[in-house]
Amino acid sequence: MSFEVTGGVYRSALLSQFPWLHHGFGGRDAADWPPVHHAAVVQVHGSRVVTASEPGSQGDADALVTATPGLYLSVRTADCLPLLMADVRQRRVAAVHAGWRGTVAGIPLAAVQAMGSRPEDVWVAIGPGIGRCCFEVGEEVAREFGRDGRQCIDLFEVNQQKLIDFGVPAGQIAAHAPCTKCTPGAFHSFRRDQAAAGRMHAAIAILQND
Ligand SMILES: [Zn+2]
Repeated sequence: MSFEVTGGVYRSALLSQFPWLHHGFGGRDAADWPPVHHAAVVQVHGSRVVTASEPGSQGDADALVTATPGLYLSVRTADCLPLLMADVRQRRVAAVHAGWRGTVAGIPLAAVQAMGSRPEDVWVAIGPGIGRCCFEVGEEVAREFGRDGRQCIDLFEVNQQKLIDFGVPAGQIAAHAPCTKCTPGAFHSFRRDQAAAGRMHAAIAILQND
């Protein structure tokens, strides 16, 4: 599934088909993204999901959900995977930050539950993050994924499979996005740039007045 790029913001064709939704994965040169008034969290690589009803910091968590029209939910990443989700039956949305810990913990599934959604009503786009090409992990992290020894892990594939196993139809998941580390011109990457790495914003909202 493809992205359309406008002003440095990547929008998934899968979610763009819903006229009542607005979403985007900001690249490193994203302008005016996300909108100034948005709800965010202090990301701690955990699996806590918060329900937001107003802009501003919602405390320590790694995912936000809302049913409030006009409220943008935002997560920040630089290699970790940003996931934007929508329950198209109840009109609820979620923004999720999933690094390897969140992936193992299944935070995208926790967000589906926090939306109060039936998995079959949920559509998901995964944005730019570190690809299998660049995500080599040691023995201990590999073990968390049920693998033996040092190897490369595909966080996109693992999150996609967990969502499918949870009941989200495969055709409602856009799980292919560029690798942040391989694409220096477009994206920040913590593994590539370390302390100098900036962060990118992924955001989603239910539009008002639809
Ligand atoms: Zn790569």
